[in-house]
Amino acid sequence: MRCPFCQYTDNRVLESRSAEAGQSVRRRRECLRCERRFTTYERIEYVPITVIKRDGDRESFDRFKLLRGIVRACEKTGISSVQLENLVDEIEAELQQRAVREVNSSEIGELVLQNLRTLSEVAYIRFASVYRKFQGIRDFVDTLNHLRSNTSQLQAEVKQLEADDASMLASS
Ligand SMILES: [Zn+2]
Repeated sequence: MRCPFCQYTDNRVLESRSAEAGQSVRRRRECLRCERRFTTYERIEYVPITVIKRDGDRESFDRFKLLRGIVRACEKTGISSVQLENLVDEIEAELQQRAVREVNSSEIGELVLQNLRTLSEVAYIRFASVYRKFQGIRDFVDTLNHLRSNTSQLQAEVKQLEADDASMLASS
């Protein structure tokens, strides 16, 4: 950081403190040559992320849209809205830290799944069934086997999906 007065590049930090409600760090600096003081602000770089959808269309990453999708999958699973907000925060932060500014929607889906799995298996299954668009019941059973869980709620979900699958096959 060059001194704004003499353009010298070396300075020392006199004081650092949180500013803008924790969104940045304010540093008071002193130039090592002219000894004048100036202030710098350090912020996390926020760059728009482009999502590449299944059909190849591109759109800006929209955290509210993502949250809506997750909320739908997590209805009646006992996951709080704060937990869901945190989940979306984590995914957004992860995407922000990547060097690449484009991400496939399927990658975001997988990130959601990784996180949901630790929160609720039912929510995980529901989200997976929508996001991965299971290729038939085999795919779904494979996913279930990964979970190695056998709760009655999960069995009910399987029954429902089997029924959906059967009616889909019957109508095609
Ligand atoms: Zn200076």
